[in-house]
Amino acid sequence: RAKTGGRARIDVFDSHLRRQAMILMRTEADLRTALEQDQLCLYYQPIVSLRTGRIAGFEALMRWNHPERGLVPPNDFIPLAEETGLIVPMGRWALREATQQLRVWQERFPHPTPLFMSVNVSGRQFRDDDLVQVVADLLASTPIPPSSLKLELTESLLMADPEQCRALMQRLRDMDVRLSIDDFGTGYSSLAYLHSFPVDTLKIDRSFVQAISSGQGNGAIVQVIATLATILNMDAIAEGVENAEEAGYLSDIMCKYAQGYHFARPAPATIVEGLLAADLAPDAVSTPS
Ligand code: C2E
Ligand code: MG
Ligand code: MG
Ligand code: MG
Repeated sequence: RAKTGGRARIDVFDSHLRRQAMILMRTEADLRTALEQDQLCLYYQPIVSLRTGRIAGFEALMRWNHPERGLVPPNDFIPLAEETGLIVPMGRWALREATQQLRVWQERFPHPTPLFMSVNVSGRQFRDDDLVQVVADLLASTPIPPSSLKLELTESLLMADPEQCRALMQRLRDMDVRLSIDDFGTGYSSLAYLHSFPVDTLKIDRSFVQAISSGQGNGAIVQVIATLATILNMDAIAEGVENAEEAGYLSDIMCKYAQGYHFARPAPATIVEGLLAADLAPDAVSTPS
């Protein structure tokens, strides 16, 4: 009897695994279709200068416009895209799309310091794709200042193979492209390495920003990271700023940039264009920075 029970359990387990595998295969096929049929799109979230209060740049965030499921957030498909390697062509698409959009906005909304665009790059894309060549081609065909293109890398990507990573980063930096560390403080990057990477920006993870106003902690970590950035001659961007208290604190400690629902949610290009136009309205114009 015990044997039969075991067998039955294994059958249930098998069919569960089979179903999981089917779902994954189905999603992978769907994802391929998404790429081929233009179902992917980019939302843009403004990044604001805390000194001027104006939009300084954007982060491009991928969405999947699924014919049945509707708008699918990246956490529901990027992991699978990474696993299957589809992230490589998807990431390349995102880079091109975001760069072309930036070109349009830089032309339409000239700023003393040109607007920048920050694009997320996954580990697999960084390692597998010829990212240096992809970026070089992009800059050759799209006339933007290379320094207005920023790539967001994660700490785990940096630490997986620090030597190789540093070499790749240096080649990008030699083209004057800027590099950020995303979700800084949540990974395991060592400070010893940090200062040897050609990084321009630390993005302070939302969890530390939340602590400013949540009552469960304070802004100590945010302040430490912002100070670290200053000492290392980098910029800091606070992620996930949701209220005026957090924004005020960040401004007080001279954090350079902020991003979050308090300022603007990620939105399609047409909506963001409205924000840019309002940002340039006469009463919003401040002295050139
Ligand atoms: P991330 O790069 O850390 O992006 C910031 C995330 O925080 C975005 O989630 C954004 O919508 C969200 N966010 C912004 N402000 C606030 C706020 O005030 N409160 C809260 N609660 N959330 C806020 P999203 O768009 O769902 O993206 C999730 C993650 O997916 C990204 O985290 C990034 O790791 C990844 N991702 C998005 N687009 C791409 C892409 O094109 N390529 C790759 N490789 N990864 C991407
Ligand atoms: Mg990011
Ligand atoms: Mg982030
Ligand atoms: Mg984050």
